[in-house]
Amino acid sequence: MKSTLEQTLLSAIRTIPDYPKPGVLFRDITTMLGDARAFRRAVDELVHPWAGTKIDKIAGIEARGFILGGAVAHQMSAGFVPIRKKGKLPHDTVRVAYSLEYGIDEMEMHKDAIAPGERVILIDDLIATGGTAEAAVKLLKQMGAVIEAACFVIDLPDLGGRAKIEALGVPVHTLISFD
Ligand code: AMP
Repeated sequence: MKSTLEQTLLSAIRTIPDYPKPGVLFRDITTMLGDARAFRRAVDELVHPWAGTKIDKIAGIEARGFILGGAVAHQMSAGFVPIRKKGKLPHDTVRVAYSLEYGIDEMEMHKDAIAPGERVILIDDLIATGGTAEAAVKLLKQMGAVIEAACFVIDLPDLGGRAKIEALGVPVHTLISFD
């Protein structure tokens, strides 16, 4: 049986078939963000495991990780660090390449965004293959961050992302999964 949390989130997230291309079931969290109760519940549950733990920074992955990460940072009294696609950040950056289904992309964060030894939680809306989160973990490690966890509202367990991130020594926390 599903918990009330799972029921709330599953009914608030919209699935768009064949977006952005045929065969993909796109899990659209904009409906969850627009639902005050579901949005609050998701943020509360992302924060919950770290009650009483001092977290210095929340790192959010562009773009939906910014919305969730900003709310989580506020609730945890932590700073927020944006991890962005290349060319969007104005100051000196560290950069890492990662594979997409077709080709390669790069993501960046500001060099001075995190001091060595700071305790960081990584946030995005969804983990699928884990390639995006893996690149973000590499950037954070380059900066000497202590990554407490990587947190996502949605897990697509069939695609293996959780195992990929846990193999890097980073615990993964997710709220719901779609098979
Ligand atoms: P991955 O690198 O394969 O783990 O993909 C995760 C990133 O792609 C996240 O930033 C997600 O927002 C996005 N993403 C991948 N698959 C989906 C999906 N089925 N629905 C919505 N977003 C997705």
